[in-house]
Amino acid sequence: MALIVQKYGGSSVADADRIKAVRDRIKRTVDAGNQVVVVVSAMGKTTDGLVALANAVSNSHLSLSTMAAQEREMDLLLATGEQVTIALLSMALQAVGQPAIAMNGSQVRVVTEANHTRARILYVEPEAIQAALNLGKVVIVAGFQGVAVDPQTGKPSTEITTLGRGGSDTSAVAIAAAIKADICEIYTDVPGILTTDPRIVPKAQLLTEITCDEMLELASLGAKVLHPRSVEIARNFGVKMCVRSSWLEDAGTVITAPRLSTGNLEALEVNRFVEGISIDYDQVKIALLQVPDRPGIASQLFQSLASQGVNVDLIIQAVQETEGVNDIAFTIPQSHLQMAEVVSRSLEIGARSVTVDSNVAKISIVGVGMIGRPGVAAQMFSALADAGINIQMISTSEIKISCVIAANDGEAAIAAMQTAFNVPVQSSHRACEFSQSTDDHHAPVCGVALDRHRARIAVEQVPDRPGMAAEIFEQLVAQNISIDTIVQSQSDRDVNEIAFTVAIADVDKAETALKNYAPILGYGAVTSDRHICKVSIVGANMVHQSGIAARMFSALAEADINIEMIATSEIKVSCVVREHQAESALKLIHQEFGLSGDRAIEVPSATKP
Ligand code: ASP
Ligand code: MG
Repeated sequence: MALIVQKYGGSSVADADRIKAVRDRIKRTVDAGNQVVVVVSAMGKTTDGLVALANAVSNSHLSLSTMAAQEREMDLLLATGEQVTIALLSMALQAVGQPAIAMNGSQVRVVTEANHTRARILYVEPEAIQAALNLGKVVIVAGFQGVAVDPQTGKPSTEITTLGRGGSDTSAVAIAAAIKADICEIYTDVPGILTTDPRIVPKAQLLTEITCDEMLELASLGAKVLHPRSVEIARNFGVKMCVRSSWLEDAGTVITAPRLSTGNLEALEVNRFVEGISIDYDQVKIALLQVPDRPGIASQLFQSLASQGVNVDLIIQAVQETEGVNDIAFTIPQSHLQMAEVVSRSLEIGARSVTVDSNVAKISIVGVGMIGRPGVAAQMFSALADAGINIQMISTSEIKISCVIAANDGEAAIAAMQTAFNVPVQSSHRACEFSQSTDDHHAPVCGVALDRHRARIAVEQVPDRPGMAAEIFEQLVAQNISIDTIVQSQSDRDVNEIAFTVAIADVDKAETALKNYAPILGYGAVTSDRHICKVSIVGANMVHQSGIAARMFSALAEADINIEMIATSEIKVSCVVREHQAESALKLIHQEFGLSGDRAIEVPSATKP
């Protein structure tokens, strides 16, 4: 007997027939001897309809205070959608003789922050659910809603809150964590998580398994299927999830969580942003300065390194102020130094010079809470600046930020990170990030994602001294701008280029803020480019195989696609390319890693009226 949480999304409960299909699946699960807690969304597009109604009766030019006051009412309104579904589903189960009880967020006591329309879950009281389960009932809970904590007393109030659009996945995983369910099954209208966007690559395949980290790194791909906040909770509390279609009996995709749970059940969604710090002294930095900016250069370099068995760790290519050239920098383990140096120096790719520095270390912070919190990177850079530490290279991914610093600064950097984020140091920098799979047969890449909604900003001629990255990103945080991939490459001219991507909507704001600040900080021009896209490969197993990034670069080189920026982490490689080449880039890379199947995945929900 297992304790199972099943979550059904809007399309799975869109009408009476769909609700009956869901009822039958629940009944089968109970008859097989399991205890079942069900979390549901509003029927079909109900929530969109309610939002439209709210807009129709209210003035679109509201003052901030009126808007805040209306958010309370908005929550009362939106929370009705899910209550319709729980009541109907419970009636449907009772009608076939299955005892069931419907509960809304305040009846269960899904206690949230007192923050209307975007509340985070603090804790879920397991008692009411447990009591009903003990009576042999199926418990049906309204997703997406909770009850606010009273800031004065610290006790639950009677104020209804919602979690933000798409939040019922988050409700389901939070409930699963609180009642220590064996699995949280997410039923939706697609068969699971695919290797890429099937609208671009029709033969994208279904993944049978993916880790939480991979899922989070694939945010732009996965977010359409699963709310990233739900994956954060699953990861922090060791909740096993699976995503499957409510139209099919197929197994779907299992999302595996690390076995050990690091979360605090009293503060489900307000965990530490950063949960690990690691330092790696086994690093040598090699920089190729002013190499020609044309297709095939990165490919040639990293292919040659891979063919000599050199294991490349971090790779960074930033934007250069001089037209037509780039600086490419990477790190490797000390033992590969000789070979890497020979390869880098002998390659005829037209680099002006090659510099080698073995006196470096890589310090990284990891944490799922960094997603959507623009301040974390700035906080890391500031803490390093306050300790007088110069950052030589920066590379970021969704859940990790790495900085290359002088090896002599290592101890001070660790101490600075511990104080800034109040977390323990991990002995092995891979311990928390990977499900240690030594199986070489595992595909190195599980998914390829394309992010089109980004623009790139480059800050040129940034003086190479402590505090510059911190100052720059603090400016952006002050404007509430979320920064995505950040790279800072290495140059030999006492200045660096820092480039990053931001949401297109924020690009003007970011550019203006940084331009205004240039005279004070003494950096050069600030440029922006809206016609770029970011293509990424993700895979927990890429760390066990060399030459993975090289294969990505070659696939692009063969199609004459220029790579304009590169950032890597252990489980992700991202390249910025021209917008008009992005779709072909995605297709080529997907093909390079053999991720397509021989036919398109069927989506039964799409063929039904
Ligand atoms: N009904 C809510 C929404 O559409 C929550 C959800 O479906 O996850 O945003
Ligand atoms: Mg949804």
